[in-house]
Amino acid sequence: MEDIINIARELIKRDDIEAIIGYEKGRAPFQTVPFFARTPEDCDKLIMNSLCVNNLVSYINQFSGKVAIFVKPCDAKALVGLLQEHQIEREKLHIIGINCQGALNPKKLRNAIKGRMVKDWSINGDKIKVYYESGEEEFNIKDFLLDKCPACDTRTPPIYDELLGDEIKTADLPELLARVKELEKLPAAEKQQYWNEHFERCLRCYACVKICPLCYCERCFVENASPQWIDKSNNLKSNKAFHLIRAYHLAGRCIDCGECDRACPMDIPLRELNLKMRKSVEEHFNYVPGKDIDVPPPLSTFKKEDPQDFIR
Ligand code: SF4
Ligand code: SF4
Ligand code: SF4
Repeated sequence: MEDIINIARELIKRDDIEAIIGYEKGRAPFQTVPFFARTPEDCDKLIMNSLCVNNLVSYINQFSGKVAIFVKPCDAKALVGLLQEHQIEREKLHIIGINCQGALNPKKLRNAIKGRMVKDWSINGDKIKVYYESGEEEFNIKDFLLDKCPACDTRTPPIYDELLGDEIKTADLPELLARVKELEKLPAAEKQQYWNEHFERCLRCYACVKICPLCYCERCFVENASPQWIDKSNNLKSNKAFHLIRAYHLAGRCIDCGECDRACPMDIPLRELNLKMRKSVEEHFNYVPGKDIDVPPPLSTFKKEDPQDFIR
């Protein structure tokens, strides 16, 4: 913690840095919230731990000047995507990369404390300690990780100006696409039923759109009235159209930060859909979004030798 405060204090003294984008402790149990430090004193509030789940990249364009930002590897992948799509300027960023062992799911933790009043919590190594009105309890962090973390294959940010922590090996992690492969094996009717059951529950609240760092259109296709691309009412047919069009918009772009999954109040497994698109793009174009800023995204580039037989 001292490290990040000292780094931030040094950076904010620089004339060219307008703010540091990081996290502070929230008011609810197990909550951290985005925080913008503008003075050395502000920097003392900054924290960085396994409950820092939000992807902060979406806040960069709220500032006109240069910002310093703390990024986990999955956040840094979003930076790569946005830089490739010219949505942010590299020279207006100072990137502090954080190596990551996984982030905690606050919902799972709240379930584990079974409604007891939490006075405070602290994280130490691979344990989280919860202090109640009377007594305390310790949990293993590995039992409360976000679903996206156990198989995450990027534990060191793919882009940074300075890096905190030692590089983490990913060789023995579970397979990222295991669930997608499982779903692919289902007969078509079962697959349809699986997704229909999920899409039917969608509230069309668009939290998944608002939180997605790669969904930055000023006017999303779902809001357009003229022409109206999809019915705005909440029913299976239009919900399905919304999700499938969105998945296509994110094909070759979704960097699997899992923020849509985390934000969805109905626990719709949006990552499964987006990982299926990632798998297809990887198979067809040998491309994984967010990994390497120097590899051009397949859907915004072309090669003369690309097969043309799909053009009629
Ligand atoms: S997805 Fe990867 S980088 Fe992101 S919080 Fe989980 S382990 Fe860390
Ligand atoms: S679609 Fe979901 S997982 Fe993909 S970049 Fe957007 S928020 Fe992240
Ligand atoms: S966040 Fe969930 S409920 Fe809301 S629109 Fe997205 S999928 Fe539907």
